[in-house]
Amino acid sequence: MSSLRFKALESIAQSKETPLVGTTKITALFGENVFTLQKARAFLSDEGYKSLVASIKGGKKIDRQVANQIAAGIRQWAESKGVTHFTHWFQPLTGTSAEKHDSFFTLKGDGTAIEEFDGAALIQQEPDASSFPSGGIRATFEARGYTAWDPSSPAFILEVSQGKTLCIPTIFVSYTGETLDYKAPLLKSLEALNKSAVEVANYFDKNVNRVSATLGWEQEYFVIDEGMFNARPDLVLSGRTVFGHAPAKGQQLEDHYFGSIPERVYAYMRDFENECYKLGIPLRTRHNEVAPAQFECAPIFEEVSVAVDHNTLLMDIMDRVARRHKLRVLLHEKPFAGINGSGKHNNWSMSTDTGVNLLAPGKTPKTNLMFLTFFVNTIKAVYDYSDVLRASIASAGNDHRLGANEAPPAIISVFVGQYLFNVLNEIKERVGDKFDEQDEAILKLDLHRSIPELLLDNTDRNRTSPFAFTGNKFEFRAVGSTANCANPMIVLNTILADTLKKFKKDVDALIEKGEKKEIAIMHVIREYIVASDKVLFEGDGYSEAWEKEAEKRGLPNVKATPLALDALVTEKAKHLFEKNDVLTHIELEARHEIELEKYIKRVQIEARIMGELCTSHILPAAVKYQNVLINNIKGMKDLGLEDQTSNQKQILVKISEHINKLSDLVEKMIEARKVCNAMDNTRTKAIAYESQVKGPYFDAIRYSVDKLELLVDDSYWPLPKYREMLFIR
Ligand code: ADP
Ligand code: MG
Repeated sequence: MSSLRFKALESIAQSKETPLVGTTKITALFGENVFTLQKARAFLSDEGYKSLVASIKGGKKIDRQVANQIAAGIRQWAESKGVTHFTHWFQPLTGTSAEKHDSFFTLKGDGTAIEEFDGAALIQQEPDASSFPSGGIRATFEARGYTAWDPSSPAFILEVSQGKTLCIPTIFVSYTGETLDYKAPLLKSLEALNKSAVEVANYFDKNVNRVSATLGWEQEYFVIDEGMFNARPDLVLSGRTVFGHAPAKGQQLEDHYFGSIPERVYAYMRDFENECYKLGIPLRTRHNEVAPAQFECAPIFEEVSVAVDHNTLLMDIMDRVARRHKLRVLLHEKPFAGINGSGKHNNWSMSTDTGVNLLAPGKTPKTNLMFLTFFVNTIKAVYDYSDVLRASIASAGNDHRLGANEAPPAIISVFVGQYLFNVLNEIKERVGDKFDEQDEAILKLDLHRSIPELLLDNTDRNRTSPFAFTGNKFEFRAVGSTANCANPMIVLNTILADTLKKFKKDVDALIEKGEKKEIAIMHVIREYIVASDKVLFEGDGYSEAWEKEAEKRGLPNVKATPLALDALVTEKAKHLFEKNDVLTHIELEARHEIELEKYIKRVQIEARIMGELCTSHILPAAVKYQNVLINNIKGMKDLGLEDQTSNQKQILVKISEHINKLSDLVEKMIEARKVCNAMDNTRTKAIAYESQVKGPYFDAIRYSVDKLELLVDDSYWPLPKYREMLFIR
C-alpha cells in the first residue's frame, strides 16, 4: 500500500494541467435538462398541460388517459435530447438517491420493436425493493414496495458518461401504504404547515390562500486528490480518516478561508456547477471554507420540496463530476480529526402566495405583528420539540461534529440577536392586561429597518448557534453535510404546523371572550415567550459554561445518536406526527429502527477498517522500521559503539510500546464487537456499539497509530498523511 501513497504523490506532481471547462452563460444552460412547465406547454396537448398544472398547483389527481398523453410528451422531449432509458428516481432512507433504469424499447405482441413510455410506467413502478431499508415494515406486512410519480417535482435528464436517463421523481411506499422514503412525509409536512399557517396568516391578511416553506441549503465539502483517496481504505469505505496525525500546519492561519480557490478545484467547481445549472439547480455562491481543502456552495433558495430534490441531486453530481477531474469529494461530517467538520446549513422560512416572507420583519405595525407571530411560534415550536429536532439530525457522522469544539453543540438553542431578544423581553415584561394601552409601542418598533442592520453585526459574530435567526429566515446549522435535508425539514414543518394550530385555538378562545383580535394575539405571543424563552441563547455555544447553563435550564443535551433517536418514538412524538398526518406511529418506529441500524453499520464498518488497517498496514510498517533500528543498534554494538545507541533504543522502545498497545486494543475491540453483534435488540446494540466499541477503543487506537506515524520512517508509512491530502493538489 505504501506504493499507492507514493504513486499518488508522484502523479500529482506530474500532471499539472487543469481540464478546461467551457464558459457558457448560465442562463443558456439553466434548466436545459428539466421538463419545465414551459417545455410541457410545447410538448403536451392542452388537456395534458392543464391537468399537469392542476396537479402541481392544487394536488389534483391525473387520470390514466391523460397520464398516457403526458408520458408520451415527456418521452418525445427526452428523445429529442438523445435519451433512451428512463427511471423512477427516489430518495430511500439510505440517504442517497436510487434509480432503476428501464429502456423505452419494447417488443409488441407481434414482435415489432418500438419505443414506448406510457402512463402506467410514468405513474408507478415496482423496483425490487427488498434491499432498501424498511425498518421491518415490509417484513411484517408485505414484501413489496412501489414508487409513485410526484408530479410536483419536474422530470429531468441525468447525463452521465455512459448516456442520458430520463428521471421521474417519485415517492417510495410499501405495498401496505407505509412511506419508505424522505419525500412522502416531507410533502405531507408541507401540507400540514400550509394548512395551519394559512389560518394564522388570515388573521392579518384574508387574501393568503397558500403558505409554502422555503429552503436555501449551504453545502460544505472537502475535495482531495483521487490517488490519495484510493490509498486510504478508511476514506474509501467509511468516508472519513480513522487515523492521521495532525499536520504541522492545520487551519490555525485561517489562510484558506480568504485564499483564492486552487485552479484544479476551481475547474471542478465550474464543471459541477454547469451540470447543476442544466438540472435547474440555482447555485449562486462558491467559496473556500476555514479548513484546508474545504469548500462550500449554496443556491438561491427554493420551495422546500424542490430544494430537497436539488440538494440530493447536487451530492450525486458532485461525486460523479469529481471523478472526471481525478478528484474525490468528501461529504462526510468529519473526514479529518482536528480540522473543521462539514455541515449543511438549512436556511428556512415561509412565504405566502401573496408574496410575503412570513419571517421578514414588517414595515407597518400590522405586518410587525404578523412577523412576531410566526417568529415566536417558531421559537416555541423549537423549544417544545427540541428533542425531535435533535433526533432529525442525528447520525454517526454528525456525532463527530455536534458537541465537538468547532461545531454547534448537541443542545438545541435559538439565537435571535440582541435587538429581537430585547423586543421579546419587553413583551414578556408586560403584565397581561396592559396591552391595551401600550401595544402600539411594540408594534411600532421599527423592526423592518433595525433588524437587518443589527443582525448583520450579531450573527456574523455568532456562528456557534445551532438554530439562528438571520434577518428574514432561521438557519438550522446543526444539520450534517451528508444528511438528506428532508429529515430536519419534515420536523421543522410539522412542529410549527402543530404550534400554529394551538396558537390559533388560543387566540380564538380569547377573541370569543370578547378580546380585540390584535390584543388577543399579543396576549398569546406573550404567553408563548414566557413558556419558551429558556431556549433563547445569545452567547458562545461552544463554551463549557453554556453546557452547564443549558443543564440548569433543563435543555436536553444528548450527544450520541443512539439515545438522541429515542425522541422519535416517544408518545409525544407519535402524537405530534400522527395528529398532523405526517407519519404514523408504525412509520416512526420503522424510521427509528432504520436510523439505529444505519448507526450500527457505520460504527461497525469503521471498527472493522480500523482493525484491518492496524493489523495489515500500520503494524507491519512499524515492525519493519523496528527491524531497521534493531539492525542498526546491533551494527553499532559490533563496531563497539554501543554507548552511542541510546536514541535509537529510545525510539525502539516507544515503537514497541505502541505496537503492543495497538495489537492489544485491536484484539479487545474485536471481542467487544462480537459481544455487540450477538445482541438482538437494535437499540441496545446501537447503544453498545457507541459505549462499548467506539467509546473505549476508537480514540485509544488512534492515539497509538498517530504516534507511530511520527516515529516510523516516512518512506515506510502506507497511508497518505494529512498534510499530503489537505495541502497538495
Ligand atoms: P449568508 O448566510 O452567507 O450570509 P444569505 O443570508 O444571503 O448568506 O443566504 C444564505 C442562504 O439562505 C442562501 O442559500 C439563500 O438562498 C438562503 N435564503 C435567503 N432567504 C431565504 C428565505 N426566505 N428562505 C429560505 N432560504 C433563504
Ligand atoms: Mg448562512
